[in-house]
Amino acid sequence: MSQYVKDLMAEVKAKNPSEPEFHQAVEEVLESLSLVLEKHPEYRAAKVLERLVEPERVITFRVPWVDEQGEIHINRGYRIEMNSAIGPYKGGLRFHPSVNQGILKFLAFEQVFKNSLTTLPMGGGKGGSDFDPHGKSDLQVMRFCQAFMSELFRHIGPNTDVPAGDIGVGGREIGYLFGQYKKLRNEFSGILTGKGLNWGGSLIRPEATGYGSVYFAAEMLQTRNDTMEGKTCLVSGSGNVAQYTVEKINQLGGKVVTLSDSSGYIYDEAGIDAEKLAFVMELKNVKRGRIKEYAEKYSSAVYTPADSNAEFNPLWNHKADCAFPSATQNEINGKDAQNLINNGVTVVSEGANMPTTLEGVNIFLDNKILYGPAKAANAGGVAVSGLEMSQNSMRYSWTREEVDQKLHGIMKSIHKTCVDTAERFGTPGNYVNGANIGGFLKVADSMMDQGVV
Ligand code: NAP
Repeated sequence: MSQYVKDLMAEVKAKNPSEPEFHQAVEEVLESLSLVLEKHPEYRAAKVLERLVEPERVITFRVPWVDEQGEIHINRGYRIEMNSAIGPYKGGLRFHPSVNQGILKFLAFEQVFKNSLTTLPMGGGKGGSDFDPHGKSDLQVMRFCQAFMSELFRHIGPNTDVPAGDIGVGGREIGYLFGQYKKLRNEFSGILTGKGLNWGGSLIRPEATGYGSVYFAAEMLQTRNDTMEGKTCLVSGSGNVAQYTVEKINQLGGKVVTLSDSSGYIYDEAGIDAEKLAFVMELKNVKRGRIKEYAEKYSSAVYTPADSNAEFNPLWNHKADCAFPSATQNEINGKDAQNLINNGVTVVSEGANMPTTLEGVNIFLDNKILYGPAKAANAGGVAVSGLEMSQNSMRYSWTREEVDQKLHGIMKSIHKTCVDTAERFGTPGNYVNGANIGGFLKVADSMMDQGVV
């Protein structure tokens, strides 16, 4: 790291105290960008990095709502509008009790580079609330979503900011949010993506992040003349991303042996086939149950409860070829990364955002495995969100095959950008540098073109 980047990192920490996830995301990107600054001093002169780490706008608001019993609840809502150099702000909404400004800033910062990599014209943003949807009735979720949108609506729009889903925000929540926006504005427009198919949604959007992360893994394998066929895979999470990751791995001839939620994980040596996956989808998306119930239904599976005091996550300590972290940030620490390597894993494709700590990332890079970082590997979700925006603007829908083909093409193009850029900056095979620099250049040049704003 150059002295300039070290000083900038120290300033980010001083200006944004108590936001460790934001520091982590910025540090990883700045390390890669050191390579660019050596060749392009003009970015330093224009203070592009200093501007990139400062959100264009941070919106925080009160979300009061009333449950069936008449009890009043107060949550906190956020929208981080990080960077609009290449298009309207775009990024998901997360509803989870752990949500705070630092977590959303890390996600919004990552989103800027990811969206740039997709080749589509989208800036970066992220938002959400500390509302916990677990155990809430549909009515409570609807009332919360309506209260949340009653403030958010004045800050978003089809050409300003277009949110989507993330942890805790799926089709049900997007529906309630869209309904309230429409009522308040008296306008039917594409202000959210991940919408229902009957009212402006795109085919393949629910599948896109999981499918995309497997397409990215397949591209990485192809550089070593290998395929997903016969690969044993560890997948974490059991939500939207995890479910469609399993589906695509199965379609490409691989076998998935793990899934998890925040309470624990299941290991099923026989593999999670299409029938078992259908059970998981019903369990998680309709019954809103726990992954433990999988082991109660299938005797081939063993359930292990989560231990918050453990030094490592046993899910990452099974013999396998590939790992697809698809739950949440920092779910792979240094010990987990080493366990993966020791167990024969040579491919890691990140469906979740920043699932690996900096120590874990360095272990993957040192061992020269095929490591696809989140901002490249999970960009398929926002890419199809971009395609949903295009379809809404045209008032036209593409077929399932058309969208899947475009998604596949975008993942191939992101992979190529990572490989070519890593090579160009002297670190061949380093997808972290490839993704960070590849995403940065387009945004930085656009910021230079648009002056100091
Ligand atoms: P989701 O449908 O809400 O599922 C999240 C899954 O992760 C659930 O199984 C959840 O378990 C588990 N999880 C969440 N927080 C956890 C924690 N602190 N510890 C352990 N497990 C936890 O969300 P998703 O859309 O699949 O998102 C998963 C990841 O992918 C996130 O990092 C998200 O930012 C990223 N991502 C999503 C998209 C997208 O299109 N949805 C796009 C790009 C990236 P519980 O049910 O027990 O909470």
